[in-house]
Amino acid sequence: MDPRSAYVHIPFCHRRCFYCDFPVVPLGDKADGASSGSVAAYLELLHRDIAASPGGPPLATVYLGGGTPSMLSSAQVAAILEALERRFGLAPGAELSLELDPASFDQARLAGYLAAGINRVSLGGQSFDDGVLADLGRRHRGADLREAAGWLGLAQRRGDLASWSLDLIQGLPSQNVAHWDDQLSAALALEPPHLSVYDLSIEPGTVFERRLALGELALPPEDLAADLMDLTWSRLTAAGYGHYEVSNYALPGHASRHNRVYWSGAGWWGFGMGATGAPRGRRRAHPRTRAGYAEALAARAEEPADAEGMPFDERLMVGLRCREGVNLERLARQENLKASQLEGLRQRLATYEQRGLLRIEGPRWRLADPEGLALSNGVLRELLAWWQEQEPLPAPAP
Ligand code: SF4
Repeated sequence: MDPRSAYVHIPFCHRRCFYCDFPVVPLGDKADGASSGSVAAYLELLHRDIAASPGGPPLATVYLGGGTPSMLSSAQVAAILEALERRFGLAPGAELSLELDPASFDQARLAGYLAAGINRVSLGGQSFDDGVLADLGRRHRGADLREAAGWLGLAQRRGDLASWSLDLIQGLPSQNVAHWDDQLSAALALEPPHLSVYDLSIEPGTVFERRLALGELALPPEDLAADLMDLTWSRLTAAGYGHYEVSNYALPGHASRHNRVYWSGAGWWGFGMGATGAPRGRRRAHPRTRAGYAEALAARAEEPADAEGMPFDERLMVGLRCREGVNLERLARQENLKASQLEGLRQRLATYEQRGLLRIEGPRWRLADPEGLALSNGVLRELLAWWQEQEPLPAPAP
């Protein structure tokens, strides 16, 4: 089935944050997309990428992520949406999301994005604490975050914006329960309809990795990290947010439709440097540098020799993480699993269910909330290691 969703990567940031290993191009604190030659050259490639796509049915969700897409002008964002509309069409009521960073846009620019058709915003707040933001290498401060969130709330109340999300990071160096509780209170006071709460992870090649190796960073011990996660769950669910995925909470009607696509197996198009897409069941990632991306576009006719199908184990893991869970029998049929492999997997999952970490609802299996979700990384890592020791899957039919 052809996907009905697209992810578009805008790689530009003012600077690289200390924990970030995304494919980004830092342009400097004062840079602006509208006047940058680098941005113009990249957008030319991006438009070529979209135009060269085989196309498909009208898109029901589009997500412009990054990077810092709010470094683009509203005209540049509008041109990307128009390119997608020309190639695919946009379905009536399509969810059109844009990531914004505080201190990288103002109210006028926000109005321009909304006039271009953006109807959902994801705000990269991460923390309200200026010291923490400085330690993370972020450019904005708590006052910028509050101001930006105020504009989004106002736009939503006026009916100009359907929904918005606030991103926070938990498990930061030196974080304790009282500090995190304050952060959650500050977030709830802004009344975001959606909250994404990510665990800090230390990625290779980042400033944080080097600092950790030098003993300059102290991450919260495991039991404190679990306490922080429990606190997140209890504060947010008490405030009426549904926990619909490991890192995502939403008020009724505000779950991200685009997020759900990643976990549903429905597939999506990926455009831009470093973007991953999974159209027609085949996962493919664009090169993570501008030069590599330009070369890949030039050589598109000979591609995609390196494209891989989304592996079974990945489909299983993403399915277990989301609230709808995974229909094991259906997935086994799609992947041509032998009866003995399905039975072995079912027995393995049953051991997690007996420990209260997984739940079975009809044909669907999912991580139990909150126990399994709180321990999701460990559970899924253990399950994946076990699966990789099992008999390989039969080769797909030619
Ligand atoms: S703003 Fe986001 S994408 Fe850009 S460097 Fe920081 S964490 Fe990475």
